Amino acid sequence: MGDTGTMTMTSADDVIEITDPQPHDESRPLAAVRIPVGTVVLAATPIGNVFDASERLKALIEHADIIAAEDTRRLYDLANRLGVHVNGRVIAYHDHNERNKADGLLDNVETGATVLVVSDAGMPTINDPGLAIVRRAIERGLPVTCAPGPSAVLDALALSGLPTDRFCYEGFLPRKHSERMQHLRTLLPERRTMVFYETLHRIDDSMDDLLEAFGPNRRMALCRELTKDYEEVRRGTIIEIRDGVRSDPPRGEMVLVVAGASDEEATAAAPSTLSIEDLARLAIDRALEDGLRIKEAISQVAEEHPLPDGTLPNRKQIYTAVLKLKQD
Ligand code: SAM
Repeated sequence: MGDTGTMTMTSADDVIEITDPQPHDESRPLAAVRIPVGTVVLAATPIGNVFDASERLKALIEHADIIAAEDTRRLYDLANRLGVHVNGRVIAYHDHNERNKADGLLDNVETGATVLVVSDAGMPTINDPGLAIVRRAIERGLPVTCAPGPSAVLDALALSGLPTDRFCYEGFLPRKHSERMQHLRTLLPERRTMVFYETLHRIDDSMDDLLEAFGPNRRMALCRELTKDYEEVRRGTIIEIRDGVRSDPPRGEMVLVVAGASDEEATAAAPSTLSIEDLARLAIDRALEDGLRIKEAISQVAEEHPLPDGTLPNRKQIYTAVLKLKQD
C-alpha cells in the first residue's frame, strides 16, 4: 500500500478501494478509487501536461499487479513525475508483441490480477497498442474496463471550432502520395468532421494532398503541441493553413481537423456508378466543349469520378470505349 490512502477489500474481494487520504469532511461523501481485480484496465496517460493525470490513473499505476506499458522507461518516468511508486510487475507491451503477450496477461487476469495497459501518451488502442488484449478478453469472457482521459483526437476536435456533433477519426494518412490521394478521394463525400493524426515530416506533403483532394476553401484546423507550453491552434481554410505550413513550418506533435463536405460537395463527390461507356461519352463531350485532346478529357473525367475505393477508373478502358463509340 502506498501513501495515497487506506486500502480495503470489498464485495467478495473483487474490488480494492483506495480511500481519499485527506481528513474526512462529513459534508461530502468519502472519495474512493476502485481498483477492479481480475480485470484488464486500459488507462489514458497525459499527452503533454502531466497534471492531466487523474487520481484514478495514479492509483492504478501504484496498485496494478501487472502494468503492460508501450515503453517501460516512459512508464517509470511518468510514475516519477506523478510521485507514485510502481509496485506491480512491468512488461513491455507494444505493436510488435501485443498479440503474443495478450493471452499470457489474460491468464493472470483469470487468476485475479489487475492488469493495467498504458501507452506512451493518450488513450491505448487509439493508434497505440491495446486492441489485441481487448479482443482476446472479450473472446475469453474476461472483464475489461477503462480509466479514460487525455486523447489528442477529442482535444483537437473540441478546439477546432468545427462541428463536433458528428465526426470521424481517420488516424494517420498513408505515407505514399498515391495511396494518400486514393484514401482522400474516398473521403470526398464524407459529411462528418474528419480528424487526422500527422507528423512533422509529412505535414508539407499531406497539406498539398488535402488541397488537391478537397480544394482550397474547406475550413480546417491544425492543432499542435496540445496541452504543452507551446500549444498552438491554426484555424482557416485549407489553402491558408497550407501556405502557413510552408512559411512557418509547425513543430512537434500535431492533429489536423478538416470540415466535412457540404451537401453539394457530398452529392458531387458520390462514388461513380457510371459505366466505362458513360465515362467515354462524357470524355468525348468534354473534349468537344473545351477544345481538349481526348486523352486530356479522359484524365479529367476519370479524376472527377473516383470509384468507391478511391481508385480512378481505368483510362485505357475509357480510351478503348471512346474509339469504339467513334467507330459506331
Ligand atoms: N493514443 C494517442 C491518443 O490517444 O491521442 C495517440 C498516439 S499516436 C502514436 C501519436 C500521434 O497523436 C501524434 O503523432 C499526433 O498526431 C497525436 N498527438 C499526440 N499527442 C499530441 C499533442 N500533445 N498534440 C498534438 N497531437 C498529439
